[in-house]
Amino acid sequence: MFDIQRAALHDGPGIRTVVFLKGCFLRCEWCHNPESWDPEPQTTVQPDSSGECHTFGREMKVEEVMRIVLRDRAYYDLSGGGLTLSGGEPTFQFEFCRALLAAAREAGIHTCLDTSGHNSREAFAELLPLVDLFLFDYKITNSQAHLRWTGAGNELILANLDFLYRSGAQIVLRCPILPGINDNQEHFKAIAALSKKYPRLRGIELLPYHDTGRYKFASLGMDASLLPVSVPGEEEQSKYRQELASLGVHLLFPA
Ligand code: SF4
Repeated sequence: MFDIQRAALHDGPGIRTVVFLKGCFLRCEWCHNPESWDPEPQTTVQPDSSGECHTFGREMKVEEVMRIVLRDRAYYDLSGGGLTLSGGEPTFQFEFCRALLAAAREAGIHTCLDTSGHNSREAFAELLPLVDLFLFDYKITNSQAHLRWTGAGNELILANLDFLYRSGAQIVLRCPILPGINDNQEHFKAIAALSKKYPRLRGIELLPYHDTGRYKFASLGMDASLLPVSVPGEEEQSKYRQELASLGVHLLFPA
């Protein structure tokens, strides 16, 4: 586990506690959480402003995490919030992920799984009864480009999306928009096609690129990629929304 954020407002409905687990199957070049990649604890090589190096990651038991999660139950009840598992890819540590979701379910806490969708169908089938809402990433339409930018094609991800939808899962599709990589008509049309193919989606969420990951790559001594990506301003973001709206896409949380 490399972070626990309480009172989070952007990773699922209501007020939530977000638990970030280490480990990920993908290597997205724009990743803003590269401290998640190594499943083991990882210490920065550059001190922060206080002159200290920081270690990302520590082992915790499910009960320890749940003690923190349960502190905010009153806020969940008031706001329709709950627990969100994120990462990294939270299903990378499958046993822990399943055990934490089960503990939250047992305690009557609403659960969200923020996932890249890149794991086996069996893994998602097992988690399905424990997840109230999937926050499911849809990154790049062309599988070759997906491979180029994330380290894997998108066939497995799309198959898992289809499986979860047809199994009755509640899903919000989360679409990171990366200027020069996927801010194109092919991708927007594919998002529109998915929203028509899966009309019961709870929503489509745009996640405009931000570059907070860059300093993390450097501080961890990892190679920061020279992404041909600029942070989209308000004007560009508005253009994304307009283009998608013209294609009939309903946005749940317009950025
Ligand atoms: S799936 Fe998420 S955590 Fe994993 S590399 Fe991509 S952006 Fe980073």
